[in-house]
Amino acid sequence: MKLLKELNREAFKTKFGTKASCYEYLANQKWAEGYSCKKCKHSKYIKGKQPSSRRCCKCGYDESTTTGTLFHKLKFGIDKAFEMLYEIATSKKGANSIWLGEHFGIQQKTAWLFRHKVQLAMESSEQYPLEEDVHVDEFEIGTPEKGKPGRSKSEKKMRVVIAFEERDGKSGRGYAKVIEDYSSESLNPLFDIHIKEDAKVLADGWSGYKPLKQEYPNLMQTLSEEGKNFKMLHIQIRNFKNWLRGVHSYCNREYLQKYIDEYFFRFNRRNHRISILDKIIERCVLHEPVSYAMIKSNAI
Ligand SMILES: [Zn+2]
Repeated sequence: MKLLKELNREAFKTKFGTKASCYEYLANQKWAEGYSCKKCKHSKYIKGKQPSSRRCCKCGYDESTTTGTLFHKLKFGIDKAFEMLYEIATSKKGANSIWLGEHFGIQQKTAWLFRHKVQLAMESSEQYPLEEDVHVDEFEIGTPEKGKPGRSKSEKKMRVVIAFEERDGKSGRGYAKVIEDYSSESLNPLFDIHIKEDAKVLADGWSGYKPLKQEYPNLMQTLSEEGKNFKMLHIQIRNFKNWLRGVHSYCNREYLQKYIDEYFFRFNRRNHRISILDKIIERCVLHEPVSYAMIKSNAI
């Protein structure tokens, strides 16, 4: 409870209420390991022209806190960006770009771009695979294309494979991946990246899981019994689908993985809400700048 209290809106406003406090926070994140000039690697600096920017004592290069980060070339104030991050990270359902645009008085396209940048900061580090008891299943999401009711059945469906740690009937952490089909080759990356090889994996009777037993000797298969044997997992699948439909209402196939990453970034930190914001800001600082064109073409 203490953590939640620390991250309430009032505390957030106190901490990040001014542009100066946001820039100072970024500077601390950016140069946490010590200052090194981007141009000449010199380690001594003086205060630069912009708030919290640092000017190299040797070559004079003045580096702002947002240069080389996802905050580069923002079309709105850094304090607004932090507040948007707060909403994206902590609002119960996750703030969509329409709401962000209206709430913060910016164009929806601008909000959409910022949101997608933030999603890049929410990608899994792939460092903490699921362990012990892990339940795996697949599901489909319908994609009613706007103005295209007659699309073929195969195009309308997006397929996902999902895995959750099972802890006495409750869920631990989870991950999911968009897949082309239900073949072993398609199912494999989720296992490879997100499940420890010695985990006790439980999947349904689908033949596509069988070849994975070579790498996952503790993989067991059981009949789904219409979901009865995967109760927790099916609740989580429902929760994810409700979130996607309720918050974002519609999502192109090419962006689905990004939304999945966002969902699990938040879900896997649901008990550490204060660190969610710190982590997102840290990742935004560490991530290379990206342009609208790069995101629109799904190049990253
Ligand atoms: Zn320098």
